[in-house]
Amino acid sequence: MEKRAVVLISGGLDSALAAKILHDQGVELIGLHLLHPFLALAPGNFPAREVCREIGIPLRIAYRGKEMLRLVENPRFGHGANLNPCIDCRLLEFREAKALMAEFRASFIVSGEVLGQRPMSQRRETLFLMDREAGLPGLVLRPLSAHRLPPTLPEKEGIVEREKLYPWSGRERKRQLGLARELGLQAFSSPAGGCLLTDPNFCVRLSDLRENSKPLELGEVKLLRRGRHFRINPETKLIVGRNHQENMILRAYGLNRRPYYLPDNFPGPEICVRGKNSPEIRELAGMIIYRYGKPPEAGAEIREILPSGEEKVFTVTQTIEEDKLERMRI
Ligand code: SF4
Repeated sequence: MEKRAVVLISGGLDSALAAKILHDQGVELIGLHLLHPFLALAPGNFPAREVCREIGIPLRIAYRGKEMLRLVENPRFGHGANLNPCIDCRLLEFREAKALMAEFRASFIVSGEVLGQRPMSQRRETLFLMDREAGLPGLVLRPLSAHRLPPTLPEKEGIVEREKLYPWSGRERKRQLGLARELGLQAFSSPAGGCLLTDPNFCVRLSDLRENSKPLELGEVKLLRRGRHFRINPETKLIVGRNHQENMILRAYGLNRRPYYLPDNFPGPEICVRGKNSPEIRELAGMIIYRYGKPPEAGAEIREILPSGEEKVFTVTQTIEEDKLERMRI
């Protein structure tokens, strides 16, 4: 057995500690980060990379956008409290790690999971199930909870010193933060970042998309974080920009590909139609632009741009009723 391992790096505290503990035991490590469209990363902020840089280990990033969409649609092991398919997601990560093990000639996997910290994926029986399902029984070392779990192969073979591992379980974070200070770790992200699939508000929009637009598409999922969304009917949704930046993003996604509406003689939001267009949709889009824009008293001119390139300007003289708007809001 080689003193070489793949460590799963989320960018959070626990995975940073797991990597640092094994690195300090002289295990040669390569980090693996599973990237997917539901990770709420701020622009320019990539904690997984910072963590690996701080510890001094290489990082491999595996982008698995489409695979995650299929798991969200139809998870083998179900969803958590929201639309988070955590067990399937972790399994996807374990399988990626197993493939990287072969390439890196590593003998085991290191994970920052803490027994009982998360209700769905970190229960004792779930940890064992994931190891089995991924074809890695005895090969996933969890240094933060090692003393509460059966010894793994690298511990049995003396590749890793079990006495220097930890007996932690549960949601308490103070002891991890204390150890991070002791080990000089700073680059990990706060738990506030995280995964959008555990955010109930995001999941309301995602559920709507899941019901009305099958199969899920990456472009549509990315747009869920932008603008105001209104479900008009099962076939049509309107996305309304909240500011100039969102208008520009909607243009990039929608202009020339989807029916598109924008104010012609006043400042206001732009609207991208997802789904079928019709005269009723056109009227609604005009009144919504009127509602959120600053139309002149003489009347608001709205430009309709169709995917064919055809353009028309029409006039809107009234806003939409608030209760009607609220009923459509997602
Ligand atoms: S919270 Fe999100 S990223 Fe984390 S395991 Fe669950 S689905 Fe995967």
